[in-house]
Amino acid sequence: SAIIEMEGVSFSYGSDAAHALDNVSLTVNEGDFIGIIGPSGAGKSTLAACLSGAIPHHYTGELFGTTVVDGADTCDITLTDISRIVGSVNQDIDAQMVASVVEDELLFGLENFGVPHDEIEGRIERTLATVGISELRHREIATLSGGQKQKVAIAAILALEPRVLVLDEPTAALDPVSSRIVFETLADINRRLGVTVIVIEQKVALLSTYCSRILVMDHGSIALTGTPHEVFGHS
Ligand code: ADP
Ligand code: ADP
Repeated sequence: SAIIEMEGVSFSYGSDAAHALDNVSLTVNEGDFIGIIGPSGAGKSTLAACLSGAIPHHYTGELFGTTVVDGADTCDITLTDISRIVGSVNQDIDAQMVASVVEDELLFGLENFGVPHDEIEGRIERTLATVGISELRHREIATLSGGQKQKVAIAAILALEPRVLVLDEPTAALDPVSSRIVFETLADINRRLGVTVIVIEQKVALLSTYCSRILVMDHGSIALTGTPHEVFGHS
């Protein structure tokens, strides 16, 4: 069933700016693993901002159309309420992360969400195990590798138990091996926990291997959508 539905969404960052999104309609079903690809400026991050509620709640501009998350129009509910359904990992994880030690990064979000104190320890332990970073629990984030940091950013959002995870180029700063490990982690979260994953990614090989569906963005529109096989063919 649908967890997010966008209908005729257009968005400009200013009244005289060009459309960053141009009449986008999209249904995201629960359990999907969607990959978004397209050239720079195509509107990928703007689409992610709509899916996570940053548009309309964080960015101002001209918005048309509707985005419905778990039955509610994102214009009618708060960003906090949206973030309980859709967790997002920004492109700049260093800016997103607030703590200096790994476990505190998870703790911060859990306390913010009002998770009862007797549940917090279990959530931290379980989530670090799910992402495969239990041994990093007491490490300083600043001393971690790019791939490890990315996993911490994912764990901090996952601990809040969203139903959808939106990630903006999580492998942009990573080497091929770390990139694959991050996608293995996402696939695991998708399969074992049933979390819907939407990821912006430029590496076709990763999208082909892990995604159930691809969106190709161009000039603010979805230029093409289908299975990796339909979109990329044999490669
Ligand atoms: P992509 O993620 O595919 O590179 P974006 O969604 O970032 O594309 O950008 C789509 C268009 O919106 C581009 O023309 C870009 O310059 C513009 N844009 C993106 N973010 C902002 C912003 N915060 N303020 C103004 N314009 C923006
Ligand atoms: P069950 O074992 O009841 O089938 P799940 O397969 O849904 O439970 O989840 C396995 C474990 O992951 C459980 O401990 C659950 O609390 C935890 N979990 C479920 N959803 C999420 C989520 N979105 N983020 C983090 N942990 C989750």
